[in-house]
Amino acid sequence: MRIVLLGPPGAGKGTQAKQLAKRLDLPHISTGDLLRQNVSGLTALGKEAKDFMDKGLLVPDELVIKMLSERFNQQDVKKGFILDGYPRNLNQAKVLDGILKEKNMSIDLVFDLDCSEAVIIQRLSGRLVCRKCGANFHKTNMPPKKSGVCDNCSGELYQRADDNVETIKKRLLVYKDEVAALIQYYQQHGLLQKVNADGQAEIVLGEMIRVVGRKNDSFKV
Ligand code: AMP
Repeated sequence: MRIVLLGPPGAGKGTQAKQLAKRLDLPHISTGDLLRQNVSGLTALGKEAKDFMDKGLLVPDELVIKMLSERFNQQDVKKGFILDGYPRNLNQAKVLDGILKEKNMSIDLVFDLDCSEAVIIQRLSGRLVCRKCGANFHKTNMPPKKSGVCDNCSGELYQRADDNVETIKKRLLVYKDEVAALIQYYQQHGLLQKVNADGQAEIVLGEMIRVVGRKNDSFKV
């Protein structure tokens, strides 16, 4: 299965993508994670991308597309993937189709995670991320057992630089500006599946897994 996750920041794309990838035994590809790795590794790409990310703006398409094409050249992508955080605009969607077409592949399913603004701001402003394994926690919704320490790997938990209310609002505006065209594009291709993502993560995941099961007989829930 080749699955794309759309949804505003805070809809739970990362959380759901990780769980879905585990259940389907597919690689999870997050352009946000790849960019953050470049930023912390001080690569040329990371240095160019950092300013855009800190301001809640999209990193220019050519940088993201080059990074994603390189990721798609890796072997594990052949069996399928869960793509999270890409595409962010119509151009990126069309480029993705082109990259896949060259490899005789296409997208099977696009989830649109629908989430209200109040829920998004509450989730993101309390989000904690593990520096080591990338696991997500939340100050009140899902606090770690020990403050500041990841339950899974004992890594240090931190707040993302762009998870402050001002930047969250900017990221939401950027999302709303671009998403309508993307939704229309995938609807026209008969790939779009809307899921209410306001609820608890396990409930949302259950719904997504049911949709995957309906789409792909070989995947039994
Ligand atoms: P995310 O982790 O998906 O919330 O992404 C964090 C930030 O990385 C975004 O606010 C953008 O600045 C940048 N980013 C991630 N994916 C993309 C993309 N597909 N195109 C452009 N910028 C991106």
